[in-house]
Amino acid sequence: MRDTHLHIERISKSYGTVQALSEVDLQVARGAFVCLLGPSGCGKTTLLRIIAGFEQASSGRLLQDGSDITAMAPHRRGFGMVFQSLALFPHMSVAENIAYGLKLRKASRAEQADRVEELLTVIELPHIADRPVSALSGGQRQRVAIARALAIRPKLFLLDEPLSALDAKLRDNMQIELRRLQQSFGVTTVLVTHDQTEALMLADELVVLNQGVVQQTASPTEVYRNPATPFVADFIGAANLLPATVTSLGTLGILGQDTGLAVSQAPGSTLQAAVRAEAITLERGAETGTVSFARDLGPVMEWLVETQGHEIRVRGAGGAAPAQTGDRVGLRFDAERITVFAA
Ligand code: ATP
Repeated sequence: MRDTHLHIERISKSYGTVQALSEVDLQVARGAFVCLLGPSGCGKTTLLRIIAGFEQASSGRLLQDGSDITAMAPHRRGFGMVFQSLALFPHMSVAENIAYGLKLRKASRAEQADRVEELLTVIELPHIADRPVSALSGGQRQRVAIARALAIRPKLFLLDEPLSALDAKLRDNMQIELRRLQQSFGVTTVLVTHDQTEALMLADELVVLNQGVVQQTASPTEVYRNPATPFVADFIGAANLLPATVTSLGTLGILGQDTGLAVSQAPGSTLQAAVRAEAITLERGAETGTVSFARDLGPVMEWLVETQGHEIRVRGAGGAAPAQTGDRVGLRFDAERITVFAA
């Protein structure tokens, strides 16, 4: 049976006429790493602030281990938080920053010292305990902020875009580190991000939001392979959303081509197909469309192919002589990797 730590029960939030969240219902399992993912303005920060207690829901409840905490003051919830701004105390040392929450909670000096030492070891910064935070690099500050939040042994760990100010390389390292820390502490974690790569990399469970409505809640693999809505298909990964029809054989036709994928709808029905860029292969010698753009992404090549008023994104190994702009090419769809939606 699933051990629910936090139940977000049909939470809605409106600001005047803006409906920021509509009936969001989520059960966060104990020890899970959940990522709230969606475009700017989808309501993810609002949801995190409601969980933290900084914002009150218009309706719905928040249950922690079955107890209603909807109206509980933020400081009484005992949650650890890291925001993009980090909000470290610049005039304090690394150790003082980490001990801050423990001091507020009137932990003994010995307990503070032990916990700080333990966390400094975990974040691999024991040698800079006495340095002021203002003299640290971005990545080091990030680690101190995470250690400070974890020092109080939080019941829930909440993070809002904590890595977005870091450069790509450091961000990648910090993602791995954050995931390791979360697993070693076993703390139930909710992280907000608009970066799908980050969410796919970190999450046990992804919650994709659009305009305040949960589109899908599932593992990253499931969200990637079986997107629940056209929005999810489009938002995660590089997908093509294309009009499709059911052929007389009961298979899916895309751009006048039979993909061979059997569908249950009646022949002649109009549908919508989501096809990932890497589920399409370019064929030389055929003339479905014209390459309008080609670029080398390193591990793979990417092409845009113009055909029948559509621009299709294709990714794959280019081989010895990859297709170039202006080439006439055919497209082959991998039937196993097509998701079909009602039109
Ligand atoms: P971003 O990634 O840009 O931070 P988000 O997904 O976190 O976006 P929210 O900040 O949760 O989105 O905002 C959701 C919606 O609620 C937006 O339309 C926003 O303009 C609106 N909103 C948020 N806070 C307030 C507020 N205090 N007053 C009025 N409207 C607000």
